[in-house]
Parts: sequence; C-alpha cells; structure tokens
Amino acid sequence: MMRAACRGMDAAMFFPEKGENAGDAKTVCEGCPVRAECLELALVKREQFGVWGGLSEKDRRLIRGQRARQARTVRCQGCRLPMVVVPARADGMGPVRSLCDDCRRERRRALRRQQQALVRRTATTR
Ligand code: SF4
Ligand SMILES: [Zn+2]
Repeated sequence: MMRAACRGMDAAMFFPEKGENAGDAKTVCEGCPVRAECLELALVKREQFGVWGGLSEKDRRLIRGQRARQARTVRCQGCRLPMVVVPARADGMGPVRSLCDDCRRERRRALRRQQQALVRRTATTR
C-alpha cells in the first residue's frame, strides 16, 4: 500500500491554529502519493478542520461551493424523472450517473433475479 507522506509526523502541523501558516503541511501533501484520495475523503466527510490532501478548510469550502454550482438536473435514463447530479471529479469533468437511486436499486434487484434464475436453471439441467 502506498504510504501517506504525513505518517509519523507531528499532527499539529496539519491542524494550524487560526492565523497560523499551513504552508509546511501543504508542502508535505504536495509530494504525497495518496493526495487525491485524501482530499476526496475530506470533501466527502466534510472535514471541518486541518489540512487534507494539501488543502485547508477554506480551500475545501471553495471546492464544495464550486461543485454545488456545477450540480445540475438531468433526466434519469430509466424512469425519465428529473434528478440532481454532481460531477464525480473535483474539476467538474467526472462522469455523471445516469440512473436515479430507485432505478439503480431496481436494476440491481433485476440482475440478482436473473442470476438466481440462471443458477436454478443450470442446477435442474445437470
Ligand atoms: S495528502 Fe493527506 S495523507 Fe498525504 S500528507 Fe497530506 S494529509 Fe497526509
Ligand atoms: Zn429512475
């Protein structure tokens, strides 16, 4: 597994007090092999404090705002009802899902039913 560049370092560096410089922590993050994942996790979990993935809370708030503005309404490819989608990537270029939660659940169920039917059929023809 790839190693986080901050492992074993003083955690206080990544949680600067208000007005303190976060530059040192950001520099460590710059060379970190898991930076993208770290940042994404912090965004998803809405981490309130500290430097994660090279960004401070203020930086992350800007990205979250950007993403919220990029959210748009599209029609579900299954039931055609409108749904709000947010691009999967921080730069807004990521893929956008095409099915609503209900349709995805239904599709998973249908696949499971198909699979079970197949298993039953192969079991009886043996
Ligand atoms: S990107 Fe995340 S894991 Fe890597 S050094 Fe920075 S805080 Fe640590
Ligand atoms: Zn749907």
